[in-house]
Amino acid sequence: MPQPKIYILGAGLTGLTIAYLLQKKGIQCQLLEANSRIGGRIETISGESGVTIEMGATWFSQQHPSLLALLDELQLSYFKQHTSGISLFETMSFVPPQKFEIPDAEAASYRIEGGTAKLINTLIAKIGLDNLKNNSKVIALKLLNNQIEITTEKGETYLADKVISTLPPHLLVKTIVFEPNLPDSLLQLAKKTHTWMGESIKFAVEYPTAFWKENNFSGTLFSQASIIQEMYDHSSADHTKFALKGFLNGGTNTLSKEERKEKVIQQLIAFFGVEAKNYTAYYEKVWREEPLAFLPYEQLIMAHQNNGHAMYKNKFFEDKLYISGSETATQNPGYMDGAINAAQTIASQF
Ligand SMILES: Cc1cc2nc3c(=O)[nH]c(=O)nc-3n(C[C@H](O)[C@H](O)[C@H](O)COP(=O)(O)OP(=O)(O)OC[C@H]3O[C@@H](n4cnc5c(N)ncnc54)[C@H](O)[C@@H]3O)c2cc1C
Repeated sequence: MPQPKIYILGAGLTGLTIAYLLQKKGIQCQLLEANSRIGGRIETISGESGVTIEMGATWFSQQHPSLLALLDELQLSYFKQHTSGISLFETMSFVPPQKFEIPDAEAASYRIEGGTAKLINTLIAKIGLDNLKNNSKVIALKLLNNQIEITTEKGETYLADKVISTLPPHLLVKTIVFEPNLPDSLLQLAKKTHTWMGESIKFAVEYPTAFWKENNFSGTLFSQASIIQEMYDHSSADHTKFALKGFLNGGTNTLSKEERKEKVIQQLIAFFGVEAKNYTAYYEKVWREEPLAFLPYEQLIMAHQNNGHAMYKNKFFEDKLYISGSETATQNPGYMDGAINAAQTIASQF
């Protein structure tokens, strides 16, 4: 019997893991990715020193078993996030930040050695580039003679026996036209399903030395009053390349990159001293301006709202359309672990 033609929409961690798991079962599928870049919300860039900087997903813990198992299977190493030393917590701009130390007993966060993109690149190498088409933004899905016709922005069409979407559900119903339309209950649910970190602004500052560690600071800081809301040491696993990285106040998306950079450096000088002036480079990514990851919600949506909702277990278009992606997972939805969990749920149905 010929194999069904399976198309996966989106080549982020979920799409790539589904393709990998299906391939292990001897089932081929084709991935269609809108972006020229593969990886979706996982994006590792390289600093001037070669330090790997995570503009997207970074941390995980022992609470993320599916991710840990996949890393072991793919023989990817990980290391503990550096937290020792003095950490800072600023509650008000006119009061000096409080100092605290993170206890050793605290459950550790880990990062993938060499960058989170190593996971993406390893999966791509397993799947093979032949099965992956980038620059292929899907704009329409039409149920047609027992198959689904997929149309891309460029006007290409594909006929699929099964389609698995891995777009965040909110993005899926906002960007793809369905004929016939999806049930109203699903459309309403997807519009109110939060996309994890979609609104965030990530930044990193690369330095020639880890001067903060030399001054007994961990590099960890939390602030309720300044532009940097959360930050950690982001140096390489072997402690030879140095950076600080974290999240900016989401409201500063209205500022220019230069204005944000100026405020970040000023905050670092105020917290860690004048040495913070001697940075090598500043990097940032405003995820809320990435339409392939995030589009504005029509109403206020809470973090993780409707993530892992039972309706995402249903199939649509006469059981030919599956809705996956990290936000549909029942375990750690929104996170990398959720992406793998969601992929496992799909793969178990084939
Ligand atoms: C700033 C940030 C920080 C994060 N930090 C962490 C962290 O520390 N730890 C953690 O576990 N998780 C973190 N996450 C979440 C993590 O990145 C996601 O859970 C995971 O990458 C989701 O993978 P996915 O494949 O489900 O979705 P995505 O990565 O969003 O993949 C969906 C793919 O679909 C593509 N696409 C979109 N529209 C179309 C279309 N019309 N046609 C075809 N393709 C399309 C997109 O380009 C994308 O490649 C973070 C996310 C962000 C943005």
